Amino acid sequence: MIFSHPGIVAAFSRQPQNMSFKHGDTGSSLTNREEFLRSLGVEYRNLACANQVHEDAVVCVGQEHKGRGALNYQDAFSQTDALITQEKNLPLAVFTADCLSVFLYDPIKHAAGVVHAGWRSSHKRLAAKTVRLMVKEFNSQAADILAGFGPAIGPCCYEVGKEFTGYFDCGIRQKQGKYYLDLAQVNKGQLIEAGLKEENISSAASCTFCNHEFFSYRRQGSSCGRMMSVIMLK
Ligand SMILES: [Zn+2]
Repeated sequence: MIFSHPGIVAAFSRQPQNMSFKHGDTGSSLTNREEFLRSLGVEYRNLACANQVHEDAVVCVGQEHKGRGALNYQDAFSQTDALITQEKNLPLAVFTADCLSVFLYDPIKHAAGVVHAGWRSSHKRLAAKTVRLMVKEFNSQAADILAGFGPAIGPCCYEVGKEFTGYFDCGIRQKQGKYYLDLAQVNKGQLIEAGLKEENISSAASCTFCNHEFFSYRRQGSSCGRMMSVIMLK
């Protein structure tokens, strides 16, 4: 569990269960989603999903959007990488294999969000943008918002080009002439700049490349499955 708080479900799945309708072996994806979500007390048919294009659009999900992308990829929110809601029992999900998922929860206004934060969306500061939309839509105070990260490729393994030193003002590590990116550190920095308290940001920080419990795009190739990061207000 990402947050130990009674008002929220926030969790991520592991391999070998593929949760994607688009990537990897999708034959069992619907059954995998149903089983994983049932174990969390979440109805899989209510899931709202983004189609994830590594951009910076956030959608505010309402009752009328319940089930968008729950049964197929085509119905997911197009051109979207982050979702927020204030609706109870309306689970939001993103899917990753190395990219970072960011979970957001405001226990005061009872609002939640989830972000698909690969390097491109992180470069576009999507997590901070998602916080700002929670402030605008739900009157959240950034200082009240709790944040957590799903497993992602860590700075131990995420080698990037030298040009990344120009993309990010923190989170780049240099080792033996090579450059490595720490997506969690980048996003943590952006969340703090957006007004979150450092002590309210908890990092699971498990590396998907090192840890074979998880799918990893870099380790397994583009046809690997995807894990689900899901958040739901109770
Ligand atoms: Zn690693």
